[in-house]
Amino acid sequence: MLSKFETDVRLRKALGANGQRFTEQRGAVFRYLAQTDVHPTAEEVFLAVRERLPAISLGTVYKSLETLVGCGLAVKLTYGDHSARYDGRTDPHHHARCVSCEKVLDLPGELLTGEIDSLRETAGTFTVTGYRLELSGYCPECVPTKDLLVTA
Ligand SMILES: [Zn+2]
Ligand SMILES: [Zn+2]
Repeated sequence: MLSKFETDVRLRKALGANGQRFTEQRGAVFRYLAQTDVHPTAEEVFLAVRERLPAISLGTVYKSLETLVGCGLAVKLTYGDHSARYDGRTDPHHHARCVSCEKVLDLPGELLTGEIDSLRETAGTFTVTGYRLELSGYCPECVPTKDLLVTA
């Protein structure tokens, strides 16, 4: 995990490269995102950052998150019927999402890129720019008892 100083240096560099200014708000949002692996929503980031910057608004947090995404410092995970979540990890990795509490966890495993390449080849005239793999199920806190998991 990066120190506060290292995190700020990384943020200032990326913001500068994208013609953006460093602000205390952006710093606080990035620091929180860089040290958590819970993939928070904008509201969750707001509640966490507000403890240190009481004057910050949800709108500012939201805009800061979008700026970080634009600078390649965070990844936005969007879901059709849920609010977006933000990931401070930008290296390729996959997620597992709990269908009960909607928590998103990082999966330690990786897919062989050969498997993805073979899928890409079957896409035909479709131009592939990326992919997302996400497992869904129950986190340890939400997993139903075994009896309930047995269907029919
Ligand atoms: Zn859960
Ligand atoms: Zn992640």
